[in-house]
Amino acid sequence: MTHPVLIAGAGPVGMTLASELARYGLPVRIVDKAAARTDKSKAIIVWSRSLELLDRGGPDGAAPFVAAGYKASAVNLVAGGGPIGRIELGDVRSPHAYALMLPQSETERLLEERLAGQGIAAERGVELLSFTHGETGVDSILRHPDGREEPVAAGWLVGCDGAHSAARHGLDAPFAGETLDSDWILADVHLRDCPVPPHEAAIYWHREGVFLLFPIASGRYRLLADIPPSGAAHPPDPTLEEVQAITDRRGPAGVTLFDPIWLAGFRINGRKVASYRHGRVFLAGDAAHIHSPAGGQGMNTGMQDAMNLA
Ligand SMILES: Cc1cc2nc3c(=O)[nH]c(=O)nc-3n(C[C@H](O)[C@H](O)[C@H](O)COP(=O)(O)OP(=O)(O)OC[C@H]3O[C@@H](n4cnc5c(N)ncnc54)[C@H](O)[C@@H]3O)c2cc1C
Repeated sequence: MTHPVLIAGAGPVGMTLASELARYGLPVRIVDKAAARTDKSKAIIVWSRSLELLDRGGPDGAAPFVAAGYKASAVNLVAGGGPIGRIELGDVRSPHAYALMLPQSETERLLEERLAGQGIAAERGVELLSFTHGETGVDSILRHPDGREEPVAAGWLVGCDGAHSAARHGLDAPFAGETLDSDWILADVHLRDCPVPPHEAAIYWHREGVFLLFPIASGRYRLLADIPPSGAAHPPDPTLEEVQAITDRRGPAGVTLFDPIWLAGFRINGRKVASYRHGRVFLAGDAAHIHSPAGGQGMNTGMQDAMNLA
């Protein structure tokens, strides 16, 4: 049987694409090599435009996402111990004039539910191994959890398989760009006595570096800070004590961190492919472009790739 579209990767981009294609009446097959979707908060902002586009599909549009999320209304800029600026997110001309704070694990859960409502389930534990493509279609090999290899003929293959995309490697498409020469830490953590208003974010400019604080839910925050390069192949994950010390030096005074959900070190890459389309194979999301988390556009631009492509 020839499938019209095979989607490799059931992250936010692959699931958005599957949902949109189904909305246009195209049967799709979507596979993901991981046994389960992410449990990490990774992308924490769903921006207005992504919500507007989600509104077009599913019986409830973006409503389930909005109901599960937390609305941020402003970003405060602080330097030298005092305010230097403020961005009002309510000024955005959109029915969703706010930043919707929602852990990526939740965004993916809701996309999975939306897909289920359309009669589609991502096949988990199924990996795109290789493919050949010609003028009329794409022949792929999928590997199942029991090791079985399945040949699949599809009209189109869309690689939504993330930064280390097998689809991109199969195309031999260069991922040109750079790895920035700085290390970063991330904390998904609870805060006590935070003086920032609950529905607002804050960015602190300190001589040592930048410190960012975003609300994720009531009492739960994403903290980000740059740290001196460690020289390690992968920046080490910070301890809660280390994040507390950076918060004390650069962030708001008197805040106590507790109950960490996720502490991670990371390095910023800026890379993209020259073309999203290679004959009957497309790349979308992180498979096609990765960039700084500043502005929270990684997942959003990827979901919008999917909407545009569909
Ligand atoms: C620490 C961290 C913090 C981040 N913070 C933000 C943020 O604040 N805001 C923001 O917008 N973005 C953020 N991002 C980026 C965001 O998570 C990504 O842009 C987003 O996940 C991209 O979605 P995607 O579906 O393209 O790729 P992914 O989420 O990577 O999903 C790709 C999927 O493809 C599957 N896959 C891989 N290879 C294969 C294969 N061969 N066959 C089948 N399946 C395969 C994987 O298992 C995975 O499920 C962050 C990322 C990280 C790591």
